[in-house]
Amino acid sequence: MTQFVRPASHRPPRRGLMFVLSSPSGAGKTTLSRRLLAEDGDITLSVSATTRPPRTGETDGVDYYFVTPDRFATMVAEDELLEWATVFGNRYGTPRGPVEDALHAGRDVLFDIDWQGTQQLQQTDAASDLVRVFILPPDLAELERRLQGRATDHPDVIAGRMARARDEISHWGEYDYILVNDDADLCLAELRAILKAERLRRKRQLGLADFVRGMLGE
Ligand code: 5GP
Repeated sequence: MTQFVRPASHRPPRRGLMFVLSSPSGAGKTTLSRRLLAEDGDITLSVSATTRPPRTGETDGVDYYFVTPDRFATMVAEDELLEWATVFGNRYGTPRGPVEDALHAGRDVLFDIDWQGTQQLQQTDAASDLVRVFILPPDLAELERRLQGRATDHPDVIAGRMARARDEISHWGEYDYILVNDDADLCLAELRAILKAERLRRKRQLGLADFVRGMLGE
């Protein structure tokens, strides 16, 4: 019988999870995900590739990998993307390599992707690693106000985003958790709670049987 050697943390090693955040544009998802990433060293952002041009303040390789339509088409053809979708006429996709590396290392990955991408991840072998969170705005008037506050976009773009917000919201039923972001601090606390509970799921705690056997001296 082999004695199970407990890791330094006294916890059995964990399987990484895929933490998906979706919301209509303007529901505060980007701010929430940035805050979560800043305070939690065990979760990393999946940086998407996109054909949309950078907004002011966005950095290539940090916010997105900004690529040409040709480069994006090559990524699709060579199966470099875990999922991809067209949003507002631009293409967005999740590079496969960094996600697989992080999960194998037992780290969690945060995805800021839309419902189309979430559906595709649900259809992959990694579906059991998926935790899907949908963030709703308190109401549509508040959403529009927030979108107008984002001065980087043209009014036509804002109108288009409002139309698309309704479409995005209609997919709320495809998610595991639904948050209403009427208070950013509260919403962040709820996100933390979901992440914590999901990390403790039995299926994600690898070596648990050996850990308990070792504890019981069996
Ligand atoms: P934005 O242009 O405002 O940064 O993003 C527009 C929408 O595209 C957001 O709903 C965002 O979640 C989604 N998005 C960003 N990256 C990806 C991706 O890699 N895949 C998918 N399916 N959607 C993405």
